[in-house]
Amino acid sequence: MNNGHRSPNTPSKMEVFDYLIVGAGFAGSVLAERLARGSGKHVLLVDRRPHFGGNAYDHYDDSGILVHKYGPHIFHTNSKEVFDYLSRFTEWRQYQHKVLASVDGQLLPIPINLDTINRLYGLSLNSFQMEEFLAGRAEHRDPVRTSEDVVVNKVGRELYEKFFRGYTRKQWGLDPSDLDAQVTARVPTRTNRDDRYFTDAYQAMPKQGFTRLFSNMLDHPNIGLLLNADYREVRNIIPYRELIYTGPVDEFFDFRFGKLPYRCLEFKHETLNKPLHQPVAVINYPNDCAFTRVTEFKHLTGQEHPKTSIVYEYPLADGDPYYPIPRGENAELYRKYQELADQAGVHFVGRLATYKYYNMDQVVAQALTLYARLCKLNRAEATDRYIEPPLRTVTFPAKTKRGRSLSSRRRALLPQE
Ligand code: FAD
Ligand code: UDP
Repeated sequence: MNNGHRSPNTPSKMEVFDYLIVGAGFAGSVLAERLARGSGKHVLLVDRRPHFGGNAYDHYDDSGILVHKYGPHIFHTNSKEVFDYLSRFTEWRQYQHKVLASVDGQLLPIPINLDTINRLYGLSLNSFQMEEFLAGRAEHRDPVRTSEDVVVNKVGRELYEKFFRGYTRKQWGLDPSDLDAQVTARVPTRTNRDDRYFTDAYQAMPKQGFTRLFSNMLDHPNIGLLLNADYREVRNIIPYRELIYTGPVDEFFDFRFGKLPYRCLEFKHETLNKPLHQPVAVINYPNDCAFTRVTEFKHLTGQEHPKTSIVYEYPLADGDPYYPIPRGENAELYRKYQELADQAGVHFVGRLATYKYYNMDQVVAQALTLYARLCKLNRAEATDRYIEPPLRTVTFPAKTKRGRSLSSRRRALLPQE
């Protein structure tokens, strides 16, 4: 099955790929890895960007500092399966993420905790007293439906306005009362002094960066990689049996029912001539400034360097899609695309293709689930299966001009040779 895209002019000698995978982020790369290494399939992974890794891509900037091109990516999960699976491709640097919010002239812990309240109001409450303090301010909401409900129901209006309302309006271009509860529910409230952003069982950064993790994942003779290539440009040239698509689902169907709203971001990277800029990796600016947060990468990576690199995130209405926007009317529009997707004979997976506000670990889990379904495996088999790579993989011409043979991955990068 190839969704009717095979061109009659396909060169007869060219290999028919078992899978054409659109998008080399976590969704596409996990599937490429598993299908190739776990089931001996031949896959071609295409991405319109000049690199693999999707939004998790990192690289060394001009000063030699490891930065995340598309904003801070911190790995955290409660899934042992996902952590063990990714651990095959990287060693880890233990890292507990900390965030401060700039509120009323102070840098205060977020998620809101005991220290946040004590420092904000000049108090010295203990945990029990903080519970009472919040109970006295919380506005009971039932049901808890929106992102406003979640916060005011726990901490009341004043703290909601100081920490959440402005940030959310900036980040999403919407009032929290117009967003599903799941958005602000990502940030808990604590009555203890735990100042970690996440409490997942596994929290770590790939020791040599995400891009290295991806490169280890994709290093297999059955995986061809074609970068700077939009699916639309190659779909009629590349012969394939099945299609896996991880790009925006509305774009795949030529926006037939209209555009699905995605929130966009502009990233402004800067290198500063000093070793350290801020006390923690991320500082949120809920109320002032056009940007939402500033990230200093050396906190995440542990890199030592006389200079430091930071990134500002400016939310935008238009541009590359980064965040599906969780609200009722968007979910309804997505359902229409999902019905088309179910009938298209194409496998849609990942954050943009399934219109889900997923973290990296959730996308990895979703991709493993799809792999298990495609190859009729149970979950343990899906992550554990390993097949020796075959000796022969012919895709594009197997020799360079100098007569040297190329790995299939390199061949795919040089289709014109
Ligand atoms: P993507 O990474 O978006 O990959 C999709 C790929 O498809 C892209 O490379 C794109 O170029 C390609 N593509 C799309 N259409 C086409 C086409 N027509 N032809 C060819 N290629 C195409 N998650 C965490 O767990 N922790 C974090 O700290 C975290 N921070 C984040 C910060 C920001 C600013 C953002 C935006 C996201 C963050 N995430 C975080 C979420 C994380 O980025 C995603 O869960 C994950 O990267 C999604 O992987 P994916 O493969 O679904 O999509
Ligand atoms: N949020 C907020 N103030 C903060 C941190 C988060 O209002 O200081 C809200 C905001 O709506 C944000 C959401 O909670 O989009 C989820 O925050 P998270 O840090 O998980 O966002 P992400 O890292 O996905 O951008």
